[in-house]
Amino acid sequence: MYTIGYAAQTPDAPLAPYSFERRDLRPNDVAMQILYCGVCHSDLHQARDDWGISRYPIVPGHEIIGRVTAIGSAVTRHKVGDAVAVGCMVDSCQQCDQCRKGEEQLCRETNTQTYNGLDRITREPTYGGYSKHLVTREEFVLRVPDGLDLAKAAPLLCAGITTYSPLRTWNVGPGSRVAVIGLGGLGHMAVKLAAGLGAFVTVVSRSADKLADALALGADTLLVSSDATAMANAQSSFDLIIDTIPVRHDVSPYMNLLDVDATLVIVGQVGPIEELFTVPFILGRRRLAGSPIGGIAQTQEMLDFCARKNILPDCEMIRMEQINEAFERMERSDVRYRFVIDMASLEAPDTQHL
Ligand SMILES: [Zn+2]
Ligand SMILES: [Zn+2]
Repeated sequence: MYTIGYAAQTPDAPLAPYSFERRDLRPNDVAMQILYCGVCHSDLHQARDDWGISRYPIVPGHEIIGRVTAIGSAVTRHKVGDAVAVGCMVDSCQQCDQCRKGEEQLCRETNTQTYNGLDRITREPTYGGYSKHLVTREEFVLRVPDGLDLAKAAPLLCAGITTYSPLRTWNVGPGSRVAVIGLGGLGHMAVKLAAGLGAFVTVVSRSADKLADALALGADTLLVSSDATAMANAQSSFDLIIDTIPVRHDVSPYMNLLDVDATLVIVGQVGPIEELFTVPFILGRRRLAGSPIGGIAQTQEMLDFCARKNILPDCEMIRMEQINEAFERMERSDVRYRFVIDMASLEAPDTQHL
């Protein structure tokens, strides 16, 4: 299947139109027309090879909402016309202990990333959602529940599940005291989801400027991290802190905010952190953790939860050709809170080949 997308050809090149083939349907494959695709920070990092692992060309995009256009002969979970979604992974070994537990994101043989990965059968590169069509094995295609606004749901597939998964891992529910550091694409979802689960939610921010935004997203209060008195008063007052800061930073000032046995979980930054002082860990039996996305079953659970609770990301819709400008604005944190590409803005190739 011939399709069109936007690709980076080198680390320095802006994204530009790129035509390529999607594979012919295997028996367990679902083909979809992509309707919307969210713009994640990792799209920018991988387009520019910031992590040193990019294979070009790169077609980014792993927050995908689409509609099924065809199914393979053995597909049972989806049918033509269904609203569906694909997130950060499109395959895994399906055999190991983690896969069998439904934790495909932790597959012992590593999961196959939606883009900048290699297909497990052909070893051909995977291309993501900044494109018109996608072909994915049915096990990695999510169902979009009725009532979830298709135009806004895309960011749930990465920002949503990345923040929902630690909330579930650490059993957040009514009465839990949750702090969220950073109020970007991930942080704003962490606030909405934690509030939806019934937690008392505090946004931690360098200044009080974000108070109105935090409350509007569903937070109960804001803690100003530059206010030494407020930080001292907040000592030992959280069960879980979700740290969504996307750049190198010092987590030490936040460790004392954790109660005994509580956890600060890093979800936003890939790379080194500042050197840590062990006293808060030892004396409070506190923990520092990391967490990736969730498994497929949990991602479906999150989508169903969001539909039930009417939780949706705050999105700014862009056209495909605005993507380079959107990357620049995202680097300046000039977005509330996630860009979503309207894929109808990308001219379709000759549909007779589809
Ligand atoms: Zn992402
Ligand atoms: Zn596996």
